[in-house]
Amino acid sequence: MKKVRCLLCPVSCELKERERGKCRARMNIDGKLQTLVYGKPCSVHVDPIEKKPFYHFLPGSLSFSLATAGCNLHCLYCQNWEISQSNPEDTVNMDMSPEQVVQGAIDNKCRTIACTYSEPIIFFEYAADIASAAHKNNVLNIWVTAGYINQKPLEEACGFLDAIKVDFKGITEDFYENITRGHIGPVMSAIKLIKEKGVWLEIVNLVVPTHNDTKEDFSRYCDWIVENLGPDVPVHFSRFWPMYQLKNLPPTPEESLILARNIAMSKGMNYVYIGNIPEHEGNNTYCPACKNLAVQRIGYTVTQNNIISGKCQYCGNKIPGRWE
Ligand code: SF4
Repeated sequence: MKKVRCLLCPVSCELKERERGKCRARMNIDGKLQTLVYGKPCSVHVDPIEKKPFYHFLPGSLSFSLATAGCNLHCLYCQNWEISQSNPEDTVNMDMSPEQVVQGAIDNKCRTIACTYSEPIIFFEYAADIASAAHKNNVLNIWVTAGYINQKPLEEACGFLDAIKVDFKGITEDFYENITRGHIGPVMSAIKLIKEKGVWLEIVNLVVPTHNDTKEDFSRYCDWIVENLGPDVPVHFSRFWPMYQLKNLPPTPEESLILARNIAMSKGMNYVYIGNIPEHEGNNTYCPACKNLAVQRIGYTVTQNNIISGKCQYCGNKIPGRWE
């Protein structure tokens, strides 16, 4: 029987008849690669866009958020492992066509549809059709992804996405191999391509105690960002909670996140945030020119927004992002 190779991601599965890819969501059926999750989201919610997190993209708006089962990485700390590490036949799924997803967004006053929670790459066909239906109705499309994708499909995705948040999980190949079961090279290439294509980009680094939290890790991470993306890409250093196969670790100490943020700012990065500590000032945006408070956030709520037409209202400095 005919084997097929999936070209979506660097795992590069070669599948025999009825064999399933490592992501669990794609299968060789009758010699053709088929998605098992089209129109079958297992998680659908309305979230503040700050929860993704996006801090420079339509602040204070709602995002119609969905995921299917499956993922092409296998992170030991996955916060959504019940769906990401499950076969689609083992999750409770809805039937939702792309048009129904868009209607859900409109009914719930969401300006965006977010493919999130698990990994949009593995439900690429569904996400692409949702995006196309969304744009026809003035709804924007965002992905929350680990960026473990091949260049060609990513180029295609950049054509239909308005913003992408990449979980850039660590700065060493060791971390990627041991903790995510992936490799760092394709993720770096994906992040650079997204920036090059001009899709709005934000980066998250989940700081995992003892695995990616040394001064040297933060320093190398920030050097790479500044060198390859420039100082204006928002970067969020987020607190880890003990989860899945890393329940033995403590939550990230606040000091580690402060250290990471201080290192980033000392290297000239302009928009550095602390995630999962709701009242920390590291949730706010400060104008890099006049240092005034540009956006204040408490948890996922925007409590003050001093950006007018994309500029700081105090000094007129342009703050990158999409603000309205
Ligand atoms: S998307 Fe899934 S099937 Fe395709 S190469 Fe990646 S892990 Fe394999």
